[in-house]
Amino acid sequence: MSRALFSRRLSGLDTTIFSEMSALAVATGSINLGQGFPDTDGPTCIREAAVEAIRRGWGNQYPPAAGIPELRDAVARHQEHWYQLPCDPDSEVLVTTGATEAVAAALLAFVNPGDEVIVLEPYYDSYAAGIALADGVRVPVTLHADGDGFGLNLDELRAAVTSRTRAIVLNTPHNPTGGVRTREELAGIAELACERDLIVITDEVYEHLIFDGRVHLPIATFPGMWDRTVTISSAGKTFSYTGWKVGWLTGAPRLVAAVRSVKQYLTYAGSGPFQYAIAEALRLPDSHFASLQADLQHKRDLLVAGLHSAGFEPIRPAGTYFITADIRPLAARGVPDCKDGQVFCRALPAMCGVVAIPNSSFYDSTAGTHYVRFSFCKRNEILHEAVERLQTLTS
Ligand code: PMP
Ligand code: GLN
Repeated sequence: MSRALFSRRLSGLDTTIFSEMSALAVATGSINLGQGFPDTDGPTCIREAAVEAIRRGWGNQYPPAAGIPELRDAVARHQEHWYQLPCDPDSEVLVTTGATEAVAAALLAFVNPGDEVIVLEPYYDSYAAGIALADGVRVPVTLHADGDGFGLNLDELRAAVTSRTRAIVLNTPHNPTGGVRTREELAGIAELACERDLIVITDEVYEHLIFDGRVHLPIATFPGMWDRTVTISSAGKTFSYTGWKVGWLTGAPRLVAAVRSVKQYLTYAGSGPFQYAIAEALRLPDSHFASLQADLQHKRDLLVAGLHSAGFEPIRPAGTYFITADIRPLAARGVPDCKDGQVFCRALPAMCGVVAIPNSSFYDSTAGTHYVRFSFCKRNEILHEAVERLQTLTS
C-alpha cells in the first residue's frame, strides 16, 4: 500500500502510555503504580447489585441510549445533594460508556474542524485524542509548579483565547498533578468563558477524591456557567469499579442533546446491568464517600512520605489518587537516568521493580520533563513494598 495507512488525525495517537507501562509492569513483574486503577474492588453491595441485575435480566439487552431512567435520576439527585445543582433527569443527564466517551462525544459535538480548544497542561491524554478526532486545534496553557502545587495563571489563559477558540477543557481534581482548582481560578475561567462565549467541558471524575477537608467546586455552579458547561464524571473513580465503564454528563438541555446525538453513533449504549448497580451506588450514604476519602488520604500520606525518604520531591496532592514527583533530586544521590521522566520510567522496573508514568506524556512543552506520576490507589502493604523498593535506588 503506497498511501499512509493511518489517517492524519491519528498521527501521534499510538499506544497510550498507560497501556505501555502496564504491559511493562506485567513483563517485568513490577509493582504497578502507573496506570490508575484500584487493586481492591469497591463495596461488595455494588457488585452484588450488578449480579442481581444480570440474574433478573435488567440491562442484558440494549438499555436506552441516554441511560436507564433509574441511573439518570440517581445522577440528578447526586448533583442536587452534593452541589445544590438541580438537573432534570430526562433532558439534563446523559449516561456514557465511561468518562472517556463523554469527553470524546462532547468534543465531537461542539468542535468544528479548525476550532481551537484550550487544555491545561499537563492534560489527560484522551483530551488530545478527542480534539484530534474532531479535527480541532489543541492549545495548551501550562500549569506552573508554585512550590505548593500547580497553579493556573489567568492572564496566560486569557492570552490563549482567540477568535477561533471554541472551548476550554478543564479537569479538577487534576490528573496527573493532584491539584484542585481554587475558587478564584474557577471564577476567572468562568468570567472568561462568558465574556468570550466559550463552552467549558469539565472533567470532574475525581470529584469525591479530595482531601484535607476540601470541598469540590463544580464550575457549572458559577454565575452564567450552567448554560455553557458540560460536567463529566464516572463511577470508576467514586466506586472503584473502573472496568465497568459507567460515566455520565450533565448540563443544559441543548448541550446534553448535542452530546447525546454523537454518543448514539459511538456506542449507542453500554454497561447495561452495571447501570442498575451504579444507580444504587449513587444512593449510598455520605459515609461511603467520607471513608473513601479518609482511606485514600492515608495512602497519600504514606506514599508522599515514602517518596521523600527515597529521595524524590513529591508534590502533595489535594485530590485524585496520583502523586507527581520531581526526579531531579535523585541525580545528586548518584541515580542514573533522572533528568528525563520518559527515560527514568523505562529504566525504573529494571532498577527497582516499580512502574510509574512520565508526566511528559501529558505535555506539549518540555515543562514536565522531570516529573513522574505514582498512583496510590493500592493496598497499604503494596505501597510499603513499593517504597522499600524505591529506597534501594539511593542506598
Ligand atoms: N478523565 C480523567 C482525568 C481520568 O483520569 C480518567 C481515567 N480513568 C478518565 C477521564 C476516564 O474515565 P473512565 O474510565 O470512566 O472512562
Ligand atoms: N485514568 C487512568 C490513569 O490516569 C488510565 C485509564 C486508561 O488507561 N485509559 O491512570
